[in-house]
Amino acid sequence: MDKQSWAEPYKIKMVELLKMTTREEREKAIEEAGFNTFLLRSEDVYIDLLTDSGVGAMSDRQWAGMMMGDESYAGSRNFYHLEQTVKDYYSYQFTVPTHQGRGAENILSQILIKDGDFVPGNMYFTTTRLHQELAGGTFVDVIIDEAHDSASTHPFKGNVDLDKLNRLVEEVGSEKIPYICIATCVNMAGGQPISISNLKEVRRWCDQHQIMLVHDMTRVAENAYFIQQREEGYQNKSVKEIVYEICSLTDAATMSSKKDAMVNIGGFLAMNDAELYERACELVVVYEGLHTYGGMAGRDMEALAIGIKESVDDAHMAARIGQVAYLGRELEKHGVPIVKPYGGHAIFLDAQAILKHVPQENFPAQALAAALYVESGVRSMERGVVSAGRNKDTGENYYPKLELVRLTIPRRVYTQAHMDVVVESVAQVMEDAESIKGLEFIYEPKMLRFFQGRFKQIS
Ligand SMILES: *Cc1c(COP(=O)(O)O)cnc(C)c1O
Repeated sequence: MDKQSWAEPYKIKMVELLKMTTREEREKAIEEAGFNTFLLRSEDVYIDLLTDSGVGAMSDRQWAGMMMGDESYAGSRNFYHLEQTVKDYYSYQFTVPTHQGRGAENILSQILIKDGDFVPGNMYFTTTRLHQELAGGTFVDVIIDEAHDSASTHPFKGNVDLDKLNRLVEEVGSEKIPYICIATCVNMAGGQPISISNLKEVRRWCDQHQIMLVHDMTRVAENAYFIQQREEGYQNKSVKEIVYEICSLTDAATMSSKKDAMVNIGGFLAMNDAELYERACELVVVYEGLHTYGGMAGRDMEALAIGIKESVDDAHMAARIGQVAYLGRELEKHGVPIVKPYGGHAIFLDAQAILKHVPQENFPAQALAAALYVESGVRSMERGVVSAGRNKDTGENYYPKLELVRLTIPRRVYTQAHMDVVVESVAQVMEDAESIKGLEFIYEPKMLRFFQGRFKQIS
């Protein structure tokens, strides 16, 4: 028998009560939020699949760790625990805590990028690319073409296309490329992994061209789980071993600990190069805090250190990815077009395929996310043309091939019954698709417009 059950390796000790709303209340709420799910009040939301960031459920051990916070300004015991954990689990020798992932991206970009540089990556991430641009760099997408094709079932859509890297070096020269940024379980591609064999090729390529390899390691454990399931030679390795191997192939890392590591806030910049560490320590005091807390409380560093250890547990990861796959399978049974293979942290609805009558300039994914909220109080997120923003030189919208709505699953938070509600709601919205109207901006922020932009329905 093909075993598909994925039950969790934990039980529930405490619950958070939710408010139930009526359709009329939700219609009013989304109107007031300018049809942007980021602007809804969370108490008006029933099942919150906006993000997996900072919304995981901490374990009893992590909460116990919170009580062990050493809130000294300098040299907190929890910092040394965190630093040792990063060494033991992720291989990096030096750790600089930051308030979250983008704090680490800011410091790294400022140190390494000069005006006119190019930074290749396996698909952009919103804050990562913006920090590269603010530092004077230009992001260059070097992910394989399959990643931009929602119909492709390539098992490692996060892989890098080495030909694209070669072409970039021919065009601009390797001295204009300070580093390559490789994300594990590529968020914007739908939570898709990179293979170890591809990462090894990238490592060799970096060595040949003497270019640094930086790891956006926000979802490294989920990536490791996919390698264990899909890549030859890794079936008998633990997630923990694979995580260590991935990290060892890279020189430095930015981490948002709000994802894999299941804490509510925090992040770090990690590296093996002592000189880079020194420069990061100089900058972290400007933007974050002293280098032994970097914007985090001692208790948060303790919960993070414990969360890192829990995140690489095989049973945890099987349940985590199993729940996401359950949602994917059930949606497919209802004929919902989604990105395949299923992602590590989310299922992505193909909004363009569902709202065929809404052209991309009227933001079909944004409209679909709003409609899903009105249907059932499920909050999702647009990942399409609104998120992609505008080209910083021409001012034109970027029109990404993928126009998606992301159903992101928080870690250890919702039950299988919640997933069933989500499936029924999406199916209902699809049935009523023709009644959903496109949107236009009534307020468009200059940067990261998806967070605070406001829309109205076009008549
Ligand atoms: C969340 C995220 C970041 C930024 O981290 P924050 O903690 O939100 O600042 C960077 N890269 C990826 C891939 C992410 O998912």
